[in-house]
Amino acid sequence: MHFNFNEEEEKFRDEVRAFLDENLPEGADRHDPVFLMEWNAKVREKRWVGFSWPKEVGGGGGGIVEQVILKEEMAKRRAPALGTCFMGLAWVGPSIVQYGTEEQKERFIPDILDGKYQWCTGYSEPDYGSDLASLQCKGVLEGDEYVVNGQKIWTSLAMWAEWIILLVRTDPKPAVKHDGITCLLVKMDSPGIERRPIQNMSGGSMFAEVFFNDVRVPVNNRLGAEGQGWQVTISALANERSGIAEVTGMIRKLEELKELARKTNKNGRPATEDTRVRGRIARFEAQIEAMRLNGMRYLTKQLKGEPLSSETSVNKLHRAELEVTMGDFALDLLGSTGHYRAGSDAAVDGGKWQTGALNWPDVVIGGGTPNIQKNIIAERILGLPKD
Ligand SMILES: Cc1cc2nc3c(=O)[nH]c(=O)nc-3n(C[C@H](O)[C@H](O)[C@H](O)COP(=O)(O)OP(=O)(O)OC[C@H]3O[C@@H](n4cnc5c(N)ncnc54)[C@H](O)[C@@H]3O)c2cc1C
Repeated sequence: MHFNFNEEEEKFRDEVRAFLDENLPEGADRHDPVFLMEWNAKVREKRWVGFSWPKEVGGGGGGIVEQVILKEEMAKRRAPALGTCFMGLAWVGPSIVQYGTEEQKERFIPDILDGKYQWCTGYSEPDYGSDLASLQCKGVLEGDEYVVNGQKIWTSLAMWAEWIILLVRTDPKPAVKHDGITCLLVKMDSPGIERRPIQNMSGGSMFAEVFFNDVRVPVNNRLGAEGQGWQVTISALANERSGIAEVTGMIRKLEELKELARKTNKNGRPATEDTRVRGRIARFEAQIEAMRLNGMRYLTKQLKGEPLSSETSVNKLHRAELEVTMGDFALDLLGSTGHYRAGSDAAVDGGKWQTGALNWPDVVIGGGTPNIQKNIIAERILGLPKD
């Protein structure tokens, strides 16, 4: 394990900082659409969107350490996301780079990098979330088209997305359930697709149910070979997984919590003078540091060329617990004003603490529940018997 960046890497950090000084001044409005458009154009021009993707497809061809530095510095300054197409950049693009045909790369990658439209992810089904490999949405090859029938659920951004990366079952009775799955890239306005929004606790509808009724998908929209969908999915998710940038986000969140503690009172005195409040903040600090050190351990492993697998479940689980406790702590600090949600004049900081606390399923359930992470840790890291 090493914790130091070399001279070249530190030079790159300086370059990122200088870019941020110039293009993200203090007080820049991160919600202003004009600012955001200009920001996106500038980071794209630097080839910092798709930073680690090969240069041949239009990416930056950058290394994994520089990618960590870039994300770390951006997170410290609360910079807008690198690129506007989260899922496109996180796993659709990397899957196409790895498994796509030349024609697919040319067709999809430039648009993903430019953030031309949103992608969504059709993995989970009403009865198959954690046990994803048992999925039942059917894809039947008829001539040069797959005919898709079935349902997906919890599909984030489905109401706005133009494309979906979809897992379907093409072999109903494979020897191993992971084998009969195929990955398709499907246009969301294809005849036979119906989307129904689902409202969450904080009042938003960022996900939807998606129904497929005889949806016809050209065979050249298949990503990878028939039956290779599981592999396509797993290897795409194994991209930058050290989670160090997420840790930087947590550090920033704790700074905001401290700020909140400074402006609230406990028992008639500033909350920062309360022993319990101070103790909890110190504990968060220690927990985040543990996450950071774990992240460094994963990064070191990746640098040695060793693939990451089950160990990232430790930080996923740790982060989920921490985010929930930090969210509850914020509401604790707010006391009776904690009841006011976004939209109310009485809500502190525009109600962001309430919205954050109500959106706990994003980090806790999205991408795998705590129980599943615990099973992974128990079985694959600790070598305990199977559940
Ligand atoms: C904010 C959010 C966004 C999401 N976005 C998407 C998306 O864009 N695309 C997509 O495809 N999906 C998405 N999902 C779905 C998400 O991946 C699933 O909800 C998740 O994997 C859990 O599956 P499930 O809901 O079917 O729960 P289940 O698998 O039914 O689990 C229910 C409970 O049983 C427990 N459990 C299940 N199996 C085991 C086991 N073997 N051992 C111990 N406990 C077990 C679980 O931990 C959980 O507590 C999203 C979910 C959320 C909350």
